[in-house]
Order: sequence, then C-alpha cells, then structure tokens
Amino acid sequence: MKRKTNITAPRGMYDLLPDEAWRWQHLEATARETFRSHGYSEIRTPIIEETRLFARGIGESSDIVTKEMYTFADRKERSFTLRPEGTASIVRAFIEHKLHARKPLSKLYYIGPMFRYERPQAGRNRQFYQIGAEALGSDSPLLDFEIIELAYSFFQRLGFKGLDLSINSLGCSKDRTDYAAALREHFSDKLPMLCGDCKERLEKNPLRVLDCKVESCRNLAAAAPTTKQHLCDECGEHLGVVCRLLDRAGIKHNVDTRLVRGLDYYTRTVFEIHHSALGARSAVCGGGRYDGLVEQIGGPPTPATGFSIGIEAALLAMQKEGVETPAEPGPDAYICSIGDEASFEAALLATELRKANLAVEFDYEGRSLKAQMKQANKMRVRFALILGDDELAQNSVRVREMATGEESSVSRAELAKRLRD
Ligand SMILES: [Zn+2]
Ligand SMILES: [Zn+2]
Repeated sequence: MKRKTNITAPRGMYDLLPDEAWRWQHLEATARETFRSHGYSEIRTPIIEETRLFARGIGESSDIVTKEMYTFADRKERSFTLRPEGTASIVRAFIEHKLHARKPLSKLYYIGPMFRYERPQAGRNRQFYQIGAEALGSDSPLLDFEIIELAYSFFQRLGFKGLDLSINSLGCSKDRTDYAAALREHFSDKLPMLCGDCKERLEKNPLRVLDCKVESCRNLAAAAPTTKQHLCDECGEHLGVVCRLLDRAGIKHNVDTRLVRGLDYYTRTVFEIHHSALGARSAVCGGGRYDGLVEQIGGPPTPATGFSIGIEAALLAMQKEGVETPAEPGPDAYICSIGDEASFEAALLATELRKANLAVEFDYEGRSLKAQMKQANKMRVRFALILGDDELAQNSVRVREMATGEESSVSRAELAKRLRD
C-alpha cells in the first residue's frame, strides 16, 4: 500500500513557531513605538485586491506584475491577486475612503504578509512580511526627511549599527522623461549586449535597466548617464534640503546618482538602507516619493512618499550583527498543589491572580510536588505557590521565592499584592 504523504506548508511559505515569534513581536512592537512617536497610524487592508489595481499601481511592465503575482479567478471568474506589496492597497484605500478630505496629510503604516510567486531560495519566500509607512498629501522635502529618519530610527531603536543609507532623486516627471531618453540613447548601440529582460525594459522603462542583476547589464550600466545631469533646479534644491536635514540630524548617507529602485511609480527622492551583513544587493528598507501614483490609480493629484522594510531581512541582519532581543518574559508564578482538592483550587487561584494581571501557570495532571517544583524551575518563575490541605484550611498560600528559597505564608487576600512587590 502506498504510504500517505504528509501535508506540509505550501512551498516558499513557513510556520512561525513560538520561539521565533517572540523576536517578531519585539520587532513589531519597536516599529509601532517608532510610528507612534512620528505620528503615523495603522491601516489594515485586505490581503487580496482586484488584479487591475496592481497592474495600474505597480506598472504593467514591472517584474512583479509580469512574473511574480499570485493571481486567481474567484467563483464568479473575477480576477484577484494576493497583494505583492503594500503601497497600491494603501493608495486604493486612501482614495476609496476619501482620506484626503479628512486631513491635509495622512500618515499611515502597515505590518503584514505579502505574496510573490518567486523561486524560493535563501531569504526569499513566497509569503514574506513587510512593515511600511506612507505619507500622503505633501511634496515638502521636510516630509521626505521625516520618512527617511523614521525608517532609520526604527533600526537604531532595534540596536543596529552597520547601516548604510543611499539616497537619490529621480526628479519630477519631466526630469524622468529626459533621463529615460538619455538612457535609451546610451544603451541604443549596446542593445545586443543587454539581457532579454533589459531589451524590453529599455522600451518601457529604461530606468529599470540600472536595477538589473545580470553582470553584463551591470557593467554597461556603470557607464550610463546619472540622474544628476537631468534634475531641474527645483528638484535639485528639493534633494539638497533632504540631504542637509539628514546631515544636521547626524544621519550618514551617500548620494548614489544611479539608485533608481525597481518600481515605475517613483519620482524625486528615492532611498535604500542596506546592512553590511547582507551584502550590497539586498536592502533591508527601500522607499521614495510617488507624486503621480494617487492620480494614476484614480484619485485627486496627491504628492506622497513612503517606504517598506522586509521583516525577514531585518531579522537576519539583527542576527548577523549580534543585536540581542530581550528575553521573552516567563510567568510570574507557578502553583504547585498537593491533593485533589488543592489541585481543583489551584485552577481557581490561577484565575484570580490572572484577573489581577499576573502571569500564572499550574499543574493539570496531579503530579508529585517534586515534579511540580521542577516544572516551576524550568519555567524560571519568580515564585512557586504551594497549596496543600493546611493552606486550604487557612485560606492562605505558601509562597516560595525561587531565587532565595525563602518561604512564607501569605493570605489569599494579600497574595496578588505580595507577588507584585
Ligand atoms: Zn524636476
Ligand atoms: Zn539585464
């Protein structure tokens, strides 16, 4: 007979087990703190969207849309896609709920899974997680500075040191068009040396040739014209303000005039944060301004900027840098019971103490006192609470301080207070 195959998680997706989940919670809590201090509020959008949102929002010709989307028809043959990134959904929600009419500036953040149908490999999963922020409603360079400083200070709060910030400006739409023309011109006589993808990119969005990972394309890109030669005065000054603010805030950065980012919607400021441990090609954070996107998706003209951080990449970098996560707090107390009646009472005592917001565990199996004490030790609790016939009769509990071994009898009424002191 054929052996039954075990059911496993889908390829390129994984389970997050409790040991590991604690590190995630710490990272997410740090993110929420940082967002709060910068005035950003959370937004949660569906995990699936109509496919045409991403086609319109990310760009019909982008790698994400052409190769990497999880697209499916629902029971009524409508085309939906598991979101491959966060920005398009946020912009859709911004327009749908007319957030622009509520406040001149919307500062939003999100944390959640994204999906891309890629070949799974080290550090690349089909379900992966991002933390992102979007600020919609201003074209001020002060906002570009704020969003970069926000991302940067998140990593600093986590305890990172080896951070590398690169920044550039792609200019306004006119500058971008000029620059694209210059790139087409530059690559026109080198066409046979470009990879197949880049031949197409040169047609649709030549800036993305600069992002190609193929060696021969990278060599050709090294001699390509830079964005700097195609910035108008206003865009040059915009970038200048952002850089001066970063300087004054003590945030080290380098202006990389060939940094373009992989998505079609960026205008003006783009940036990436790299970590030395992950190598030059994989950013832990990337973002930039997208002044035309809201209009492109069907909303009113709204300048905006944002970024996203890969949670897996950030955790990997933390590990490589040796950044410690504070240990997960254990329970405050473990209740050891002797006898059936005491073990019944232990469940009620636990309930009482939990209501007082203490973390308490107890034995369910009627094991020996020795086995229960061993369990208390293993859980590294501060207190073992011993409950036997005598204690039941006196309505008290024997409290053992694990660190010193000191024991005292405490009345039930006083117990929560005693444990908290
Ligand atoms: Zn310009
Ligand atoms: Zn290429």
